[in-house]
Amino acid sequence: MSHYRGRFAPSPTGPLHAGSMVAALASWLDARAHGGTWLVRIEDVDTPRCVPGADQVILDQLAACGLLPDEPPVWQSARGPLYQQALDTLLAAGLAYPCGCTRSDIARALAASGASKPRHGELVYPGTCRSGLHGKPPRAVRVRADGPAIHWNDRRLGPQAQPVAEAVGDFVLHRADGLWAYQLAVVVDDHLQGITDVVRGEDLADNTPRQILLQRALGYATPRYLHTPLVRDAAGEKLSKQTGATAVDVTDPLAVLTAAGEPLGVAATGATVGEWLAAAVRAWHAR
Ligand code: GLU
Repeated sequence: MSHYRGRFAPSPTGPLHAGSMVAALASWLDARAHGGTWLVRIEDVDTPRCVPGADQVILDQLAACGLLPDEPPVWQSARGPLYQQALDTLLAAGLAYPCGCTRSDIARALAASGASKPRHGELVYPGTCRSGLHGKPPRAVRVRADGPAIHWNDRRLGPQAQPVAEAVGDFVLHRADGLWAYQLAVVVDDHLQGITDVVRGEDLADNTPRQILLQRALGYATPRYLHTPLVRDAAGEKLSKQTGATAVDVTDPLAVLTAAGEPLGVAATGATVGEWLAAAVRAWHAR
């Protein structure tokens, strides 16, 4: 096996909450348990959703809990030229194409073809601009997702499959507003940073097939994936900034770590953060 490299990749849309702490701790524990390297990547490509200063708050919260990256963090906002290179490769290979459709163009094309509205999430793109822009100005760039279903084996969830063509269709890599899409940025960075193991929250599992599709299109290796259990609030809703999850209070890092360990099945004790983490690595090994 190539040397283990893992990462925690928060979007700086606010401080870490109890749910994001679980993903942070799990990725750190898995890297340590494998004698590997652990990185932090600030995923600030969706600039309208980013909160100024949240990146530093997150790094400070991690540090207070003893979760220190082995290499300096990288910021996606500084890596646009790398995403452009990957996009150019896909365009040159005919695997990606410019799209001139607005949301209402897409809704109209779907209605005309008798497709029912999806219950949530994005409209499944009907592929209108695959054959050219039809005189419209280019807006976004999409990848062709018309291959066979993607199968993968999650280290926790087991065998998974998704027919990307039917489930999401040709998805956006470069947005009409000029921003890079998460799917492209995450795949390029996981590749360039040599990530062998992606450990992250289960809410992201649904993105994995799109990411594997992109890795294959770009000729990249696919890392192993482990999606961690979600933390739910008292009402059974997944914790997220949207549902008002509060920032973890790192003035008591042992309490934060203990709470984050619980959904992971990691019961550790220790008088200091260092002792707790060492015990947690042993517990992670033993699971
Ligand atoms: N930046 C993403 C998020 O905070 C996580 C990306 C990932 O771990 O792949 O939801």
